[in-house]
Amino acid sequence: MSRMNMLGRGRRAAALTAAVMLAIGGAAGCAKEDTGGTTEGGVALVKAGTLTTCTHLPYAPFQSKDDSGKVVGFDVALIDLVATRLKVTQAIVDTPFEGIKSGADLNSGKCDVAAAGMTITDERKKVLDFSDPYFDATQALATPTGKEVKTLDELVGKRLGVQGGTTGEEYINTQVKDKNLKIEVVSYKDLAALQQALATNQVVAAVNDLPVWNEYIKANPGKVVVAAGFDTGEQYGFAVKKGNAELLKAVNDALAAARTDGTYDKVYAEWIGEKPAA
Ligand code: GLN
Repeated sequence: MSRMNMLGRGRRAAALTAAVMLAIGGAAGCAKEDTGGTTEGGVALVKAGTLTTCTHLPYAPFQSKDDSGKVVGFDVALIDLVATRLKVTQAIVDTPFEGIKSGADLNSGKCDVAAAGMTITDERKKVLDFSDPYFDATQALATPTGKEVKTLDELVGKRLGVQGGTTGEEYINTQVKDKNLKIEVVSYKDLAALQQALATNQVVAAVNDLPVWNEYIKANPGKVVVAAGFDTGEQYGFAVKKGNAELLKAVNDALAAARTDGTYDKVYAEWIGEKPAA
């Protein structure tokens, strides 16, 4: 098909969609909701009055459901500050990490911002625009208590769990390849599945971001220990669709204000714990 044809088709489809939406909006009197919105400050949003956040649950302490089913955590609290600044409310969409890190969810208008304990990487920077870093993280190796494994060498011939699509998985795969280690790396679709695998001895150790293990140990005392750390020097960033400079500025302004007025430290103390000396 020629490019002209594709454009023609796209335009016709768009005109048709607009006509249908007008008809629906007219009937229900809520056209605004369907076409997105713009804040007083001129930031375009996929849904009027709402800052829609894509995340991948569970990832405590950054985002997870509390007993009432509400999504809470460090990232949630920080994005709430952005929403307040924009005079809108945050709504959270739980979706696989792959669509978040590839930019697909932001590009398709599923959400305005991605907040998922997501590490800023050069590869991801090609498809996402990241905020200023808001958290420092490293990778950690967790094992059942009393079955500590300190090095990857000790895992040769054994099963090691990782979380699919994450920097932890990438780090382990690179180590295994570079050092030619015969470790059976097993990838799980989310953090809950990885932790379950470790708890039920399907793997002898599991790798994920350190704060996530610290949180798990707090919630399940005595079961698991952080046996080793890998200083990957990662930094988390929130992400917006490539080119969405207005929203990116709002995110960065909210982060900067929070760091200056003490809110960041308060939120850090609430969700992460004692802040390491700067
Ligand atoms: N920080 C890790 C990454 O960016 C894990 C993120 C997550 O699983 N939500 O890959």
